Amino acid sequence: MCWERRIVEANAARLKIVAPGQSPFTLIYRHVDCGHEQEHEIASVRRNKITCGQCIEAGLRDEAKAAGLALLGPVILQAEVLAEGITFIGQDFPRFRHYRFLSCGHEANLHTEQVRKKEVKCDLCQPRSSVPF
Ligand SMILES: [Zn+2]
Ligand SMILES: [Zn+2]
Repeated sequence: MCWERRIVEANAARLKIVAPGQSPFTLIYRHVDCGHEQEHEIASVRRNKITCGQCIEAGLRDEAKAAGLALLGPVILQAEVLAEGITFIGQDFPRFRHYRFLSCGHEANLHTEQVRKKEVKCDLCQPRSSVPF
């Protein structure tokens, strides 16, 4: 165990080591800038490829509220989505989340970038067929 090197690597990524992780390849780190504590891979810290997941989620929640949505959590796959020919690979949908429209209560998987730009509308209330082509 070369702790000195890990501490140097953590400092470079603006992290502090607070506890051992659940595997020998991870540690619990505290983000210096926001104070959140999170488990990260030591290798990711070494490559300085670390973002605070809790801050990202908090940011997404704020953006959702601004767009008239509630952020519910990770994507929920629906037969409808699959029928549209959108292929999601595995469980990894980093840019999508499951939201509820506050105005009507309908739920949908939306791209976080579209939510940020407030370019979202409820397809169930405003069917796509009503869009003039
Ligand atoms: Zn944070
Ligand atoms: Zn709706």
